[in-house]
Amino acid sequence: MLDICLAGTGGMKPLPDRFLTGLWLEHDGYGLLIDCGEGMQVALAKHGCKTAKMDTLLITHIHADHIAGLPGLLLTAGNGGRCGVLNIYGPKGTEKAVRSLMCITPELAFDVKITELTHHEITSFKWHDITVSALPMRHKVPCLGYRFTENRPPVFDPQRAMELGIPKMYWKLLHSGETVEHEGKTYSSKDISKEDRAPLILTYMTDTVYFDRLSEYAADSDLLICEGMYGSDEYIPKMKDKMHLVYSQAAYIAKKSASKRLWLTHYSPANENPKKYDKTVKEYFPDITISRDGERLTLK
Ligand SMILES: [Zn+2]
Ligand SMILES: [Zn+2]
Repeated sequence: MLDICLAGTGGMKPLPDRFLTGLWLEHDGYGLLIDCGEGMQVALAKHGCKTAKMDTLLITHIHADHIAGLPGLLLTAGNGGRCGVLNIYGPKGTEKAVRSLMCITPELAFDVKITELTHHEITSFKWHDITVSALPMRHKVPCLGYRFTENRPPVFDPQRAMELGIPKMYWKLLHSGETVEHEGKTYSSKDISKEDRAPLILTYMTDTVYFDRLSEYAADSDLLICEGMYGSDEYIPKMKDKMHLVYSQAAYIAKKSASKRLWLTHYSPANENPKKYDKTVKEYFPDITISRDGERLTLK
């Protein structure tokens, strides 16, 4: 299960009614944040995301709208009682940027551990029992998208367990993946389960020009969160230059990747009414949301 809150939806600079794009995730009582542009601690507080729970921060790339809010975020988290090492992951350049920004947070109550990830190939690491894959984007600087995969245990079949004569006392153990010996026979979870369940998948991609592999990265996502700077296709050439996407390109990626839902984010400050295209985008992809700050979902 993954609790998801899109704390902000803006690109480039915060606006009076739109915070910069940042994604908050909660799983098993732990919090993870992707990106921290200016004012991110305010956006999180506004939407009830508790920085005291945050043990991991992922940075997509070293542009101000994705990292300039780090000192304020760290200080607010420290004042809010956050303790224990904070793990920060990001592309090449993250260590230097984070350490530079931290020269104005000298009395922080917790340590940070920084890991730089390559932007030349997909790398994976664990956030508790969730696998996080860092996806190489194509932007003006090294940039990463992130994909979260939560494997789920197969569905327990009590009927099958009874038919096999396995005592109830062993059911929980078997379902947790242990093997059990009973009357000379060895049983595993496979013996008492129905079909395997598909994993839960969340993919997050901002700040990239379009390229074909994006849909491969997002394959079978339960939720794809993707940037869309503008609603009109007339901006495609300009955005190609600036290495960004528009709504229809994000929708195309969602469709091609067989994603179930799409949330748009990272709107240009010049895009004053992102929702203006609410009707047209549904023609591109049915389950599309032109997200607002504070968009929420629990994936389970
Ligand atoms: Zn940006
Ligand atoms: Zn950028």
